[in-house]
Amino acid sequence: MIRFTRRRLLFALAICAGWLHSPGFAAEIERVEPPNWWIGFHQSDVQLLVYGDGIGAFRPTVDYPGVTVLDTLATANPNYLFLRLRIGDDAEPGDFDIEFTGDGESITHRYRLDARNPDPEHTRGFSPADAIYLITPDRFANGDPGNDGIDGLGDVVDRNQPGARHGGDLRGIIDRLDYIAGLGFTAVWLNPVLENAMPAYSYHGYATTDFYRVDPRMGSNEDLAELARVGREKGVGLIMDMIVNHSGLHHWWMADPPMDDWVHRWDGYVETTHAKTLSLDPYGAEIDRREFFDGWFVPDMPDLNQDNPLMAEYLIQNAIWWIEYLGLAGVRMDTYPYSGGEFMAEWTRRVMEEFPDFNVVGEEWTENPLIVAYWQGGAYKHDGYQSWLPSVMDFPLNSVLAPSLVAEESFSGGLNTLYSMLVNDVLYPDPGGLVIFGDNHDMMRIWSQLGEDYGLFELAMTYLATMRGAPQVYYGTEILTPSSGDHGVIRSDFPGGWMGDAADAVSGAGLTERQLQAQALVRTLFNWRKTSAPVHQGELTHFLPKDGVYVYFRYLNDERVMVVLNKNEDVYALDTARFEEVLGDARSGVDIIRGATHDLTSPINLTPRTALVLEID
Ligand code: CA
Repeated sequence: MIRFTRRRLLFALAICAGWLHSPGFAAEIERVEPPNWWIGFHQSDVQLLVYGDGIGAFRPTVDYPGVTVLDTLATANPNYLFLRLRIGDDAEPGDFDIEFTGDGESITHRYRLDARNPDPEHTRGFSPADAIYLITPDRFANGDPGNDGIDGLGDVVDRNQPGARHGGDLRGIIDRLDYIAGLGFTAVWLNPVLENAMPAYSYHGYATTDFYRVDPRMGSNEDLAELARVGREKGVGLIMDMIVNHSGLHHWWMADPPMDDWVHRWDGYVETTHAKTLSLDPYGAEIDRREFFDGWFVPDMPDLNQDNPLMAEYLIQNAIWWIEYLGLAGVRMDTYPYSGGEFMAEWTRRVMEEFPDFNVVGEEWTENPLIVAYWQGGAYKHDGYQSWLPSVMDFPLNSVLAPSLVAEESFSGGLNTLYSMLVNDVLYPDPGGLVIFGDNHDMMRIWSQLGEDYGLFELAMTYLATMRGAPQVYYGTEILTPSSGDHGVIRSDFPGGWMGDAADAVSGAGLTERQLQAQALVRTLFNWRKTSAPVHQGELTHFLPKDGVYVYFRYLNDERVMVVLNKNEDVYALDTARFEEVLGDARSGVDIIRGATHDLTSPINLTPRTALVLEID
């Protein structure tokens, strides 16, 4: 009865909108995905998922120059129809009708073809020349309190609850792009902003319930496009967080899936084992592989079946749709190995085929560099696997960065750990292509990892700003945001993002002297980094840490940068003779952090627990 009423309502709406031409109405179209497409992609076919009561019994026709219906597939569920359209290069941008006919009825759906954005900068991917600012949008700034609660989406705003929604949104980020650019960052990575219509604990965004819709509590699709466009104008590209491994349990299709194997189903609940070795383990058992790849991430995130070619194509097209629509600077792919190497290779190949200058960074959360390196494309793998992935998150380096700074110096501990980790770069096809970081939304904040030691913070930030790879910094790091290991606390509210906040990180009002000092340090380091070609693409030579001092050089042609990380809590006289092979006859260097000129022909007196970044004359 309820169903009937809803149908009548939709019918009335459809009539008003002029969607239906037939008076003998028997079916309706609720969704067509992707909602529009473009002319001129390398892959000229597009698969449309059509959803509506009884639509499976209908057959589509198109009368539009350059567009043909290649084939149509009805599934076991009569409410779905999948069709493939071929978009010829001779097609013109514009609207056309897809006429669905069946049983004497017909329904017309208006579809749109757009011209692709011709500007190569529109989808230029981030590179090692970029520095990335990671934001959890619900927790950054509430630019529009009017969208905090939306009827029908579930979950509520309660800033007193670490696991509840706090009301942050895209407008809050757009309003602070100047601040982010001013800190020296050239890209933002946002934790997912697509609809998460889950009853509770949805603020993180990783339980997608509509792959084509920005969550209305974040804003609209148009707001996200505005963020991407305005960001580009200010020199800040947008990196979109995507998840193809799972959706949210309340995704609209879970109530009425097109076929049994749309998601992985088990007798009872089976959770992934997170056994990352299984992607490449030559001895792995089939049952273990199945449980890792096909088990669910958590009970309210169904595991999507990418072995189903309709699902695979749906997910690939969804990525292409957002990249072209928004003009992205990259994708950060969540849980990269969980969807299986074969699918991820094809997903990445297709994305990079359409956008050759694009960049994708995969999340493979393991401290084992062998596994992380396996995913980076560009080199032969032992099993013949061909990956197309340009970048991977450098979790192994992350796992030693803070511990090596906090630990007592010893023969095998302290800075030696950080130094030794880099030998693993021989495994990576392109070490410079990695993304390096001290923390992210899933781990204790770097300030707390470092025991709230400001000197160590300076060393960590300096390392991230000067080491190979593109650095990523989590919002609030620049003002020494602390945290426990609790996810809701890690992702705490950015001061000043809410009316009535006691402090405002953007204006600096209410910040402590130490917070302002940290913010100035980050601003100095990352604005300088924007201009340093040796850091972006130069060689690296590092010297075995001695007496708590780690020295390395980045150099390119005649440009040399000397980085000195002094962990000592006393003044230390650094003899420069040991660095002669890189220094040559250099006589002095200017520290970009404090501005002082240092004589390199005699020992440098290092201030306790500070870093030097010397541009050498
Ligand atoms: Ca809001």
